[in-house]
Amino acid sequence: MVRPTHAHIDLHSLTFNYRRIREYLGARAEASPTAPRIIAVIKANAYGHGAVRVARALESVETGPAGGLMLACADIEEGIQLREAGVCAPILVFGALSVSNLDGVIVHGLTPTVSSPEAARALQATAARHGQQLHVHLKVDTGMNRFGFRYDNIRRTVPVALEDRNLIIDAVYTQFATAENIDHPLFDLQRQRFEIALETLRGMGLDEFTSHAANSSALLRDRRTWYDAVRPGLLLYGVMPTPIDTALSVRPVLSLRSRIVAVKGMRVGETAGYATQFSAGRASRVAVIPAGYADGLDLRLAGTASVLVRGQRASIVAVSMDSTTVDVSDVDVSPGDDVVVIGSQGDDRIDACEVARWIGTVPHEILCRTGTRIERIYNSEFL
Ligand SMILES: *Cc1c(COP(=O)(O)O)cnc(C)c1O
Repeated sequence: MVRPTHAHIDLHSLTFNYRRIREYLGARAEASPTAPRIIAVIKANAYGHGAVRVARALESVETGPAGGLMLACADIEEGIQLREAGVCAPILVFGALSVSNLDGVIVHGLTPTVSSPEAARALQATAARHGQQLHVHLKVDTGMNRFGFRYDNIRRTVPVALEDRNLIIDAVYTQFATAENIDHPLFDLQRQRFEIALETLRGMGLDEFTSHAANSSALLRDRRTWYDAVRPGLLLYGVMPTPIDTALSVRPVLSLRSRIVAVKGMRVGETAGYATQFSAGRASRVAVIPAGYADGLDLRLAGTASVLVRGQRASIVAVSMDSTTVDVSDVDVSPGDDVVVIGSQGDDRIDACEVARWIGTVPHEILCRTGTRIERIYNSEFL
């Protein structure tokens, strides 16, 4: 049984996007012997799309022992969930590991990030206890002031990690703080700091490592950020991060749909929703959709946002925990009609970026919010 409110996850669009990104990166092959590898970011349940399904679909594109594909998630627990579902591709864990139980990294063959001397020591101790060598990525903080060894302090802090006999540094990476903002000078500054950090590490005797830096926005903005691998999240899910002029076209993977469960009239001056969120300035008709903030619809959508019904926009007048009320005074609707919250209907489309703009956030947050109560429906071929 499928609830009236559900998310369609089009895994064909996902694999389409992956192939398009690969082609786009292949354009560099003229200047450099190889195109950068893709580290597909599937943290936070693949931005709400379902991490295991997404991982399996991506593995089906990259044949062989997961081909050149690498996956990335936020913590060890997310990585273990993928391994337990049979995902074989290498999995990079982004998060800081200082307070985690690290045995899972070894037992499940995950690739952790070393982002501090403490993390290096803890990983070294775990690897030594298991009598194994552990392949890791080293993170350099070039301006986020979050995870990673400070770019200007590497000579002092990194030697700990280099001395660890059980740790093998496969890659060095950083992350941009302002890749979405075309004009911000920090973007280029971070790239320069990263390159200095890479030189410093080479000077300290570290060699044979690869490097990566770019999320979706960065890889679209500046090819100099491609290095040996790129880390797209948003782009894989078919969302263009910024209004950016690019040859790459992707297709949205997620659509969020519901149905109208009630239609009723309101007299002038009557109010709808808790705390009288909406007051009817004229005789109105409103319709109720069985999805609310528990499903990820933000309270602040009331008064600013719309949904699609019968191919037209109906503005949201009230959002509560389990339901949302929309103004359908100008649309001829009946109970049972299909409603699109994110996606297309008729000639119109509401995408995650538009919803994000309505409430002043980023499209990542909109996708991740897709609630646990919302059933995900996948293309049957990918079962
Ligand atoms: C989430 C994340 C990404 C992906 O970012 P998008 O903007 O979704 O492409 C890349 N790198 C790191 C370290 C991340 O945490």
